Amino acid sequence: MENCQNCHKSFEGNYCPDCGQPARLRRIDGKYIRDEISSVFNLDKGILLTIKELFIRPGKSIKDFLTTDRHRLVKPILFILITSIAYSIINHYFKIEDQYVNYKGMKGTTGRMFAWVQDNYGYANIIMGIFIAGMLKLFFINSGYNFYEVLILLCFIMGMGMLIFALFALIQGITRVDLMTTAGIISMIYITLAIADFYGRKKPINYLKAVLAYVGGMVFFSISLLFSGILIDLIF
Ligand SMILES: [Zn+2]
Repeated sequence: MENCQNCHKSFEGNYCPDCGQPARLRRIDGKYIRDEISSVFNLDKGILLTIKELFIRPGKSIKDFLTTDRHRLVKPILFILITSIAYSIINHYFKIEDQYVNYKGMKGTTGRMFAWVQDNYGYANIIMGIFIAGMLKLFFINSGYNFYEVLILLCFIMGMGMLIFALFALIQGITRVDLMTTAGIISMIYITLAIADFYGRKKPINYLKAVLAYVGGMVFFSISLLFSGILIDLIF
């Protein structure tokens, strides 16, 4: 009998029957490093598979993640953090956004809050996702998905939106051609199609609801920041 190193159940054989942990982990060696690297860049699993799936069939792959298979795609919160960091790095390196918006000039707490959003897209996107998820719950009230499942949907598709921005920011940084409006339009189109695909792409009304919920959530998020900033400045 062995004791499982993960869940401590005692068992016989090579794998724990409860949690699947192998009786003995192999030592880290060159093969392990090669496997880990290829798993990142492999189109059959890992982050590239996730991007491919979310691009080709967003609705189905996210539904599969929610209901049947949670190992195929990368973890959604990790996904939105990684893609947001990728965009932030490119953005800072080429100083893209400084040409468009500079919240640091805004006075008071509100200005600092918007500057924080600009410096922390990863976390800010998750907070924005909470507002948009609330809107989607309202617009698709009979869909049967709970709030957290909708939030997972948003982590995946907003992560893809960030990737679209990252890609265009990179091209803009290299070519000096202004592409941020194009990036905004393309990511908006992707997000609308992906949300509608998730809730049922055959119903035309779903596309309208997707746009309204997404834009509504963003507006609601911005207004909340604005008013809480003003309120904090009034109190102190
Ligand atoms: Zn176990």
